[in-house]
Amino acid sequence: MNFSWTPEQLKLKQEAIEFAQKELNENISERERNNDFPRADWKKCADFGIQGLTVPEAYGGRGVDPLTTLLIMEGLGYGCKDNGLPFSLNSQMWSFQPAILKFGSEAQKKKYLPPICRGDLVGAFGITEVESGSDSYAMQMTATEVEGGYVLNGRKSYITLAPVCDLCVIFASTDLELGRWGITAFIVEKGTKGFSTSPVRDKMGMRTTPMGDLIFEDCYIPAENILGPEGGGVSLFTTAMESERGYIFASQVGRLERQLEEAIEYAKSRQSFGQSIGKFQSVSNRIADMKLKLELGKLAMYKVAWLEENEMPLLMEAAMAKLYLSEIFVESSLDSIRIHGAKGYVTEFEIERDLRDGIGGLIYSGTSDIQRNIISRLLGL
Ligand SMILES: Cc1cc2nc3c(=O)[nH]c(=O)nc-3n(C[C@H](O)[C@H](O)[C@H](O)COP(=O)(O)OP(=O)(O)OC[C@H]3O[C@@H](n4cnc5c(N)ncnc54)[C@H](O)[C@@H]3O)c2cc1C
Repeated sequence: MNFSWTPEQLKLKQEAIEFAQKELNENISERERNNDFPRADWKKCADFGIQGLTVPEAYGGRGVDPLTTLLIMEGLGYGCKDNGLPFSLNSQMWSFQPAILKFGSEAQKKKYLPPICRGDLVGAFGITEVESGSDSYAMQMTATEVEGGYVLNGRKSYITLAPVCDLCVIFASTDLELGRWGITAFIVEKGTKGFSTSPVRDKMGMRTTPMGDLIFEDCYIPAENILGPEGGGVSLFTTAMESERGYIFASQVGRLERQLEEAIEYAKSRQSFGQSIGKFQSVSNRIADMKLKLELGKLAMYKVAWLEENEMPLLMEAAMAKLYLSEIFVESSLDSIRIHGAKGYVTEFEIERDLRDGIGGLIYSGTSDIQRNIISRLLGL
């Protein structure tokens, strides 16, 4: 692996930082209080070129390589005080978009990817149901074959961007008796009869990312909206999860970088017992650990991108990156609060938000337990 960045790559990161600082940081606390999804900022990000990073130029994107994309997303996370908007973007970019890109027909890619890159459409990706989360292939949503297409019935829950989405990729069973081999993916557009979304659910963190349910009641979908092969839902889901697990934390890595800088700055300036608190080993050790975790987390994520660029298997590495980055985000966010004392705990100083935003990472894209299961299974256990 090459550990150096080119001046062009570093410039792209810097541009993303400056864009986020200038354009995306207004009224974050108020938006957070109101569960507000910043649709105008979503569009600004598209104009800047975020949604199109991984999409080839032929479909309206920029065709940027995975490693450079990660660096730009880090820049966005470093510059943006809100973790919610970068999470929404990463969520769409690493699950919904690869599903269309890797499994879509030419017609589907031409129809959906350009408006996604322009930020005109928001895409959600739904597999989870209330009774089937980790055990997602135990889903009960059905797709019944009828002339010319399928009728969908069921409900996907806890879905990122569901309440604001313009279209979604969802999974349903064409034959519940076939278990996982009966699962097929479908693209459903807003406005389709029988398709609706729930209101936004209140949640602990990432409050500017709306979460809710996708509801299907006798919803007719033409056969052309099948995504990938019929019965091929598991393969599509596994592929999308590899990229989601590998990369969804890219912007949070940027946030961790800034969190570390803020902790260092505070440890140098805050006086206690006649010296700066950074002179106390218990504080400086904590900061050293934050630095160590950040650097190891970056390497874990970059390795996934390197494997992808070299067309090598990455299931294990993606699970390890997801597990590690989600856990260290929570740990470092708690350390940051400890270092800032009461200031860290009080909402107005915008330090405690990271911890609330980080908890969801232990759950989405497969819980930490599930990542450990994947790793140990691949180790032959
Ligand atoms: C912020 C956020 C965003 C989300 N976005 C989406 C989205 O966009 N699309 C989507 O489809 N879903 C989404 N989800 C749902 C998420 O994928 C599920 O919550 C997750 O897979 C866990 O499922 P569950 O909540 O049903 O928990 P359960 O599966 O019921 O798990 C409960 C507990 O049991 C443990 N457990 C379960 N099975 C095992 C096992 N085999 N071995 C060890 N431990 C086990 C789990 O680790 C957990 O601790 C999101 C969730 C969150 C929090």
